[in-house]
Amino acid sequence: NRRILLARRPKGAPVPEDFRFEEAPLPELAEGEVLVRHRFLSLDPYQRGRMDDARSYAKPVEIGGVMECQAVGQVAASRDARFKDGDWVLGGFGWQTHSARPGKALIAIDPQDAAPSTALGVLGMPGLTAWVGLKDIGEPKQGETLVVSAASGAVGQVVGQLGKIAGCRVVGIAGGARKCAYLMDELGFDAAVDHKGDLGAQLDAACPGGVDVYWENVGGAVQAAVFPRFNNFGRMVMCGMIAQYNTAAGADAVGAAPGPNLGPVVRKRLRIQGFIVGDTGWKRYAEFRAELLGHIAAGRLRYREDIVQGLDAAPDAFIGLLQGRNFGKLLVALD
Ligand code: NDP
Repeated sequence: NRRILLARRPKGAPVPEDFRFEEAPLPELAEGEVLVRHRFLSLDPYQRGRMDDARSYAKPVEIGGVMECQAVGQVAASRDARFKDGDWVLGGFGWQTHSARPGKALIAIDPQDAAPSTALGVLGMPGLTAWVGLKDIGEPKQGETLVVSAASGAVGQVVGQLGKIAGCRVVGIAGGARKCAYLMDELGFDAAVDHKGDLGAQLDAACPGGVDVYWENVGGAVQAAVFPRFNNFGRMVMCGMIAQYNTAAGADAVGAAPGPNLGPVVRKRLRIQGFIVGDTGWKRYAEFRAELLGHIAAGRLRYREDIVQGLDAAPDAFIGLLQGRNFGKLLVALD
């Protein structure tokens, strides 16, 4: 079992030395446990938070502990009657090639429905995040303008397309011409804004009627540019602020990132609400999966994955995720 451990807590942006590789024997199975051979690991921005020893909604990874992630894999041995060799499963397995888990902690996935990797992206945690946040907080309505940041990424691409399905004018913000072209040409967004260019001028052109829903994935300068363009009764869905995950001061420190003047919240009756997908998301997973499978089958929902090969590629790919190097849902494929 080859695995990647947290060697030390990063100071600012993670570097390769923050990770350590280790070979360990395959785990022995206790009654009720299943040995899973991992096929795809999911690299996600929240894993940066797990590397810090800060108070959060989840415990940090210990120094010397296996880096946390969700993964899909195939059963290699089973002492749980519900699972047999070769079955595809989803679980919280960590950055490693194999793991032993109680069968009751696994979700079975049907590879006939969709490619197994989608259980980590469009049909998994990121897609569920988009679906829950829009339903519960964004509440997009026909004719409204929805702006989404990190729009070509795992969460953003689903948010924007669900916004289109709801009848919104959808504006995606992304880094660079390739990602912006993808939003327009492949996903059918109404406008794309490159955050490496003049944000204010591009947003004015893209949102002539102002902004009704802003899906926040990024924070920082992007947030500061979108915020003054809210219409009355606008909703800001606080999903994440990746631009400040590497700030040495700690993401929650006052002044860690520039923020908008909150004065207009009262005058414009804005609603700003944060959420964590796990709060209610997994209880509603079956409904979500059925709905999104329907959209995919009907050609209304597309998805893009960015797959790197081999466990050893994980640290560098993760470092790149926090710099915008990924283009779509970032996954590590294991042989
Ligand atoms: P993405 O696939 O969108 O990848 C991250 C993207 O963020 C990059 O590709 C890049 O896109 C952008 N980015 C990275 N660093 C910066 C920066 N410094 N400034 C501006 N943009 C940057 O990731 P996910 O879709 O998995 O996650 C998106 C957001 O959703 C994150 O904030 C994440 O923490 C949050 N999240 C929250 C959940 C919840 O329960 N609340 C659950 C899941 C995710 P670009 O090149 O376009 O700038």
